[in-house]
Amino acid sequence: MQDLDQVTINDDKSIATLGPGVAWIDVYKALDQYGVSVVGGRGPTVGAGGFILGGGYFHWAGKYGMAADNVKDFEIVLADGTITNANAEKNTDLFWALKGGGPNFGIVTKMELYTVPIRNIWYQLGAYSSKQAPALIDAFAKWQKEGASDTRGTVGFVIGLETTIVGLFWSEPAVKPEPFAPFYDIPQIEPAGKPANSTLIHLTNQLAFVGGDGSARHDYRTVTTKVDVELYKDVYEFWKPKAQAVHDTTGANVTFVFQPVPKSVAEASKEKGGNPMGIPVEGQMWWSTTLEWTDAADDDTVRGLSIETTDKWEELGKARGLYLPYLFMNDASRDQNPLASYGEKNLQRLKEIAAEYDPTQLFQKVQNSGFLLSKA
Ligand SMILES: Cc1cc2nc3c(=O)[nH]c(=O)nc-3n(C[C@H](O)[C@H](O)[C@H](O)COP(=O)(O)OP(=O)(O)OC[C@H]3O[C@@H](n4cnc5c(N)ncnc54)[C@H](O)[C@@H]3O)c2cc1C
Repeated sequence: MQDLDQVTINDDKSIATLGPGVAWIDVYKALDQYGVSVVGGRGPTVGAGGFILGGGYFHWAGKYGMAADNVKDFEIVLADGTITNANAEKNTDLFWALKGGGPNFGIVTKMELYTVPIRNIWYQLGAYSSKQAPALIDAFAKWQKEGASDTRGTVGFVIGLETTIVGLFWSEPAVKPEPFAPFYDIPQIEPAGKPANSTLIHLTNQLAFVGGDGSARHDYRTVTTKVDVELYKDVYEFWKPKAQAVHDTTGANVTFVFQPVPKSVAEASKEKGGNPMGIPVEGQMWWSTTLEWTDAADDDTVRGLSIETTDKWEELGKARGLYLPYLFMNDASRDQNPLASYGEKNLQRLKEIAAEYDPTQLFQKVQNSGFLLSKA
């Protein structure tokens, strides 16, 4: 067993062992001295356990697959108290299930992750006015079509009601990486974010805002579509006045977040043994949103905004042949059903594996919530 928040590394620095409660910033800090990292989280305070069991998406996922694809071994306590391991040789079906199958199989007490040679990186975090959102959507879609196949780089793109943030991330030292060219001529608001050769730790600390402002009530939501600039713009125009109205009446902070997912994510997942998530093998966009508000009386109003928006993505996406049914568990809202979106065959296999390792279905009965197979 590993202490909850402990990080250790093996002699040749190829495998990091994590306690399930460790926050990603502490993982990167522990590994920094060895010049390596792991495929972990963007938000510094997010814990490793739930993140990996939900698949885990990271800046550099394009090249390496999902975070869960980079796990070498899970140590797990099963419902009957047995402590066992799941890896490519032992309990291989359970190993597959844990790579995105959620909290349905046992309590993970230790994870061994393959390290990746990422420490020194280039990035630019730029702020723009919300009026520039359409021009930034054009630049983003152009980069997704033409630049995203170079998996050294990725873009984080968060539109707010007043400010829009664009993060350009490159996994090695660089000078203005060419694939980000569509963004360079769009002027930032002051103070402009300067391009910097820096470290993963420094970047992760800068991303403390990811996930929201820490208000009492919050929610996420997700939907997946193919890459299409007109679709992006049409849903943004639908969202913007509704988001403003919800903000004006409830004070909620709301965002419109583009997460680019290149084809290489699903390809890398397959190469590394596969996972249950059924991520389509093509370039795609996982739209997401953060909602932060304070008053429980406003729950329906605030959550209604994101529900209407994902409904609009689905309606327009289906009409235009651009909708993809996959839902990323780590960004899904409580009423969404990511496990069902993995496809009938994968869902059935997950249920069989859960029945084998947890015959009394303890984990379906004692957990009040979470993405449970019994509800999928
Ligand atoms: C600020 C912020 C930033 C984020 N950034 C990212 C990101 O970059 N990429 C991404 O993919 N997601 C991101 N997320 C989403 C995040 O991965 C999910 O919220 C995830 O569920 C967090 O896991 P947790 O263990 O911290 O949460 P919890 O709510 O504690 O756990 C989530 C689920 O996993 C179960 N679980 C947790 N630990 C274990 C364990 N050891 N064994 C068995 N079951 C367990 C819990 O029972 C629960 O059902 C972010 C979230 C926030 C708030």
